Amino acid sequence: MTYRDQLLTCSKCGRKFVFRVEEQRNMADKGLEIEPPTLCPECRRQEIMGPGLHSGVIKWFNAEKHFGFIEQSDGSDIFFHHTAVAPEDLPKIAERVAVWYEVESSDRGPQAINVHVRE
Ligand SMILES: [Zn+2]
Repeated sequence: MTYRDQLLTCSKCGRKFVFRVEEQRNMADKGLEIEPPTLCPECRRQEIMGPGLHSGVIKWFNAEKHFGFIEQSDGSDIFFHHTAVAPEDLPKIAERVAVWYEVESSDRGPQAINVHVRE
């Protein structure tokens, strides 16, 4: 059997995503039938982790001042404090690192909480 990258459309957000050869091989290796997923990787992750989860990238982080900003998928920035980051992920927080987070409103406006590095 030969595998080929397939360009699919997410049934939830409508974004195009690639069903990669490696994923297809993985399924085959596990003895699963190769069925194209209906959701993009991001929506699949949200299904698992709950609807309140967002993805973004670290715009900058000042370790001395203990805070930084995440660039959200819509292009706007959101504040985060280093206590919002999972302790095991804190050393990995740096510019352009992709993260998952939730949004909480505080008296100074929305801020990101439960920040995790995307693997
Ligand atoms: Zn999607």
